[in-house]
Amino acid sequence: MSARYHLWVSGCQMNDSDARRLADALDDAGLLAVEGFDDADAVILYTCSVRQNAENRVHGQLGHLKGLKRRRPHMLLCVTGCMAGADKEELRRRYPHVDLFVSPMETEDLACQLLAAAKSEDHCAPAPSPRSHEVPVSVGITAITGCDKYCSYCIVPYRRGPQRSRPAREILAEAADLVARGAREVVLLGQTVDSWGRDLQPQETLASLLRDLDTIPNLSRLRFLTSHPNDFTDDLIDAIVTIPALCEELNLPIQAGDDEILRRMARPYSSRQYLELVDRIRRSVPDIALSTDVIVGFPGEKAEQFDRTVEILRAVEFDIVHVAAYSPRPGTAAARKMVDDVPAEEKKRRLHVVEGLQREIATVKNEALVGKTVEVLIETRAKGKWSGRTRSNKLVFVESDQDLRGQLVQVAVDGAGPWSLRGSLTLPS
Ligand code: SF4
Repeated sequence: MSARYHLWVSGCQMNDSDARRLADALDDAGLLAVEGFDDADAVILYTCSVRQNAENRVHGQLGHLKGLKRRRPHMLLCVTGCMAGADKEELRRRYPHVDLFVSPMETEDLACQLLAAAKSEDHCAPAPSPRSHEVPVSVGITAITGCDKYCSYCIVPYRRGPQRSRPAREILAEAADLVARGAREVVLLGQTVDSWGRDLQPQETLASLLRDLDTIPNLSRLRFLTSHPNDFTDDLIDAIVTIPALCEELNLPIQAGDDEILRRMARPYSSRQYLELVDRIRRSVPDIALSTDVIVGFPGEKAEQFDRTVEILRAVEFDIVHVAAYSPRPGTAAARKMVDDVPAEEKKRRLHVVEGLQREIATVKNEALVGKTVEVLIETRAKGKWSGRTRSNKLVFVESDQDLRGQLVQVAVDGAGPWSLRGSLTLPS
């Protein structure tokens, strides 16, 4: 009988993308995907370390699996993702019932290790299994693993290692396969995706990769996520202007609006340089949708320094702001060298200030679209409504009895809130 496996995935889109690649490899080798832990011969947990509560979820899951492993000792338990990039000795001591810890730097070996284990248990694999993962309309593809930036608050470089760009041919082959299986939008993923290719020999650029992806038949849209302001070049701006499938949308984290706080965060740009970059982008792509990430309550952040962040958010008028209150991640420079001295109540206040401001800005921006027609790539249906996104990444709900999944449709917008639009179908494009 074929070995059965179960994937448990938490965290970011990169874990989703890596888990899908693993599932494809296991399906091709004849293993069978199962829904729950109880029937699986192999359980693989994709873990996240970005925040403590994400790690706590994994600790809870591992506690739960201890009993299952006792009852079913032949079950192979494997932990990968960011948590497995931590001190393995410490992890093995804490979780002796886990068979394999595979760090994100070693995931290429993961399928081989799992298949070797399945073979040693005499689970023969007579033929490939049908692919177990339905390919989403909008699919993420990991373009870069790891990061070289070492922002003082961030655990990623310690857990995912240095930046490694995947070769263009691998990414192109994966994208073509996913589009052939129903994807219509590809989102290239990386912590600093705009630096893709700089570590390859010979060096390549993200702009050239995007041009190659744009030639894939039936690929309607392209995006990339996340960009680092220091790596964002003029040829990428030119790519947004000239590549038909590439959407007019960017995530460009600023993190803070005060230069002293940026320096303490080890973000190597000033607020002025960031604003100049935004100006340059907007001069070439006036209707670009911008999203950003902000941390409030970083160690030493005074009220007036936080006010500078608010000023920049007001000035730029982002479409989306992802805001988080600072919490120390053990092992980072900020946790080692800085005092987490902004009281929790004050962090919460700053969080609410940013959220309130962004709600106002997003409401005004979205209401300006009422009465207009937007192109929407329909992704899914829930509670009787289809939903999809505009090229500027706005979420749109529309009612229709037709099967619209994967279609580009024109929607007349008749309602707007801060986080989504609603409308009715006009003509398919
Ligand atoms: S750029 Fe900074 S915040 Fe982003 S993953 Fe790298 S170290 Fe972390």
